[in-house]
Amino acid sequence: MDMAEIEKLKNTFPLLRELIALNEVTWFNPAITDAAEGLRHVGLTAEDVADASARLSRFAPYFEAVFPQTQITKGIIESPLSAIPSMQSALASRYKTDLPGKLMIKLDAYLPVSGSIKARGGIYEVLFHAESLATEAGLLSYSDNYAKLDSKEFRRFFSRYSIAVGSTGNLGLSIGIISATLGFNVSVHMSADARQWKKDKLRAHGVNVVEYQSDYSLAVEKGREEAENNPLCHFIDDENSTNLFLGYAVAGERLKTQFRDAGIVVSRENPLFVYLPCGVGGGPGGVAFGLKLAFGDNVHCIFAEPTHSPCMLLGVHTGLHDAISVQDLGIDNVTAADGLAVGRASGFVGRAMERLIDGYYTLTDQEMFDLLSLLDKTEQIRLEPSALAGMPGMQRILSDTSYLNRMDFTQEKLNNATHLVWATGGGMVPEEEMAKYLDVAGV
Ligand SMILES: *Cc1c(COP(=O)(O)O)cnc(C)c1O
Repeated sequence: MDMAEIEKLKNTFPLLRELIALNEVTWFNPAITDAAEGLRHVGLTAEDVADASARLSRFAPYFEAVFPQTQITKGIIESPLSAIPSMQSALASRYKTDLPGKLMIKLDAYLPVSGSIKARGGIYEVLFHAESLATEAGLLSYSDNYAKLDSKEFRRFFSRYSIAVGSTGNLGLSIGIISATLGFNVSVHMSADARQWKKDKLRAHGVNVVEYQSDYSLAVEKGREEAENNPLCHFIDDENSTNLFLGYAVAGERLKTQFRDAGIVVSRENPLFVYLPCGVGGGPGGVAFGLKLAFGDNVHCIFAEPTHSPCMLLGVHTGLHDAISVQDLGIDNVTAADGLAVGRASGFVGRAMERLIDGYYTLTDQEMFDLLSLLDKTEQIRLEPSALAGMPGMQRILSDTSYLNRMDFTQEKLNNATHLVWATGGGMVPEEEMAKYLDVAGV
């Protein structure tokens, strides 16, 4: 984008000046539609999600065998749901406002195997690939007990194939661990700034970690090249993969069951608000798709991004999607929120989901660190910075009267509402790293 184009955009969309100034902003999309209409534009269906869910069930006996920590959930990788009333009061004091309704947290940081939301989409994509290879080779059929994949024979079979991914963090951890466990040759291409403990952990699992002196986009390019030059190599494309997206979407039905079991009603009179940290968009987009399928018009999804990396807000607000990056506006994309440091959003997710996402907001890194410490103090829950991005969402919604009026949220509905913060990661952060995060907090 050249300077003249950027100037024109700033005049058409004054909000861009706020983004450039790195101010915290909240924007509710006036162009959202009802769920039925929005879902027709996604290009994927409830059947696709049901198929993904069935695939995960087929793999459950395998998970019980290789990851014994999944035995209590019978081989299903799922996270707990919990009310956080002490944090809710602490937030009301922090933001000096009433916060009616019930604040809850979805603890993807506690997902087994890799401790983040990437244990949904990332693992699912590798399972999909493994199942296709094994069934095509006549070694596996859907009716088999997949525990048989935990054998020398299958590991030898998968070792003929490789998997490549470019990632600085949680996606690399998820893909690396599950791929190596199945027996694949797996390469995780990482940029220079990736954290040492992640490289160490992957190497300990037998993953080939390739390091680059430059940034993330080069690491992704190299991963893609490796796959193009090798027909037996599968490249995992974080920006465009529908399989990743469907792996995330399974969360919708699962949450519906958890709410039912907990006796929490979601209806027109009892709306559900869900706050999702957004990087490239696949994780929050996929989860939101699953939520819309499960709860329809009664769920309202809001994406949260760092002030230094507001790529999805920028893409949807201007309608340019992946044709614009935060760097085009001179925004540096430097944030401590590892999973959210993305300058250009997925064009696939932005376009597929824009009618179904109520709003978008940004928050500063310092706010994430402060909330990280506050959640530790009030609820004894420890997360990584990215996972706190959803925490201010409740206050942002409740303070925007024009959104509340447009959506016909009466005081009574708001009193009956549930607000769910999707806590996307942090389960694998070592003690010493966590201590550093807590040190940065001003509370
Ligand atoms: C990856 C990640 C996200 C965002 O997911 P995207 O698919 O990149 O939008 C949020 N939180 C954490 C902890 C992550 O690792």
